[in-house]
Amino acid sequence: MNIISRYRSPNFSNLLIPVEFVVLHFTAASLERTLKIFMDPSTEVSAHLVIDRDGSVYELVDCLNGEAKRGWHAGRSHYESLRGAERIRCEGFNDRSIGIELVNLNGNIYPYSERQYAALFRLIETLKRLYPSLNAPDSIVGHEQVAGFRGKSDPGRCFEWSRLFAVCYPEQGMPTREAICPELMAQRMRALVDGVGISYDSINDVVTFPQGLGAEFFSLLSSFSEAALSRE
Ligand SMILES: [Zn+2]
Repeated sequence: MNIISRYRSPNFSNLLIPVEFVVLHFTAASLERTLKIFMDPSTEVSAHLVIDRDGSVYELVDCLNGEAKRGWHAGRSHYESLRGAERIRCEGFNDRSIGIELVNLNGNIYPYSERQYAALFRLIETLKRLYPSLNAPDSIVGHEQVAGFRGKSDPGRCFEWSRLFAVCYPEQGMPTREAICPELMAQRMRALVDGVGISYDSINDVVTFPQGLGAEFFSLLSSFSEAALSRE
């Protein structure tokens, strides 16, 4: 696996955390912009790992050496996790999880690439060996499962959870992973994106923007959908 560790984020707490979960996100930005945001101390956000469209893996906060520092990716979060027959309420996912960001402008609109799935599945296998709690299927969650109450909708409707569980947790069943973003809202976002002239070439996995409209549009779109989906 191609792991790139020359980009480091200053946005983490110098504390080792017990790794009980992996939280999946989409970046809502290109790789370049994502790295810039995570390496800028004023943003106070980070993820341990970023997976680009071509399957390259960037480690921005320590976690692949068997010890995970506390990243700043989950924010206010809670989840009732099923461990065996037991339900455990967990809060504050920065204190207990590794954050993985998948480069996607909006995972409720655009699919993830095959190379991203392949890299993600291999990463999960590596992390399972390092952190035994991750051997439970319910330890892999989306940001929307733990922070959907405040409108977080990543990795989104296009993320194929069934593939992840079939590959990384065969014969262990699949926990419920419902998308927070309703079909209708996804359709409206899609119409908005098409309407401003952004086009997606699914064969070459390339998004083209009209002049003057950049990837910032997608962060704006994410904040609109967050506001609309927030139940607080
Ligand atoms: Zn997220």
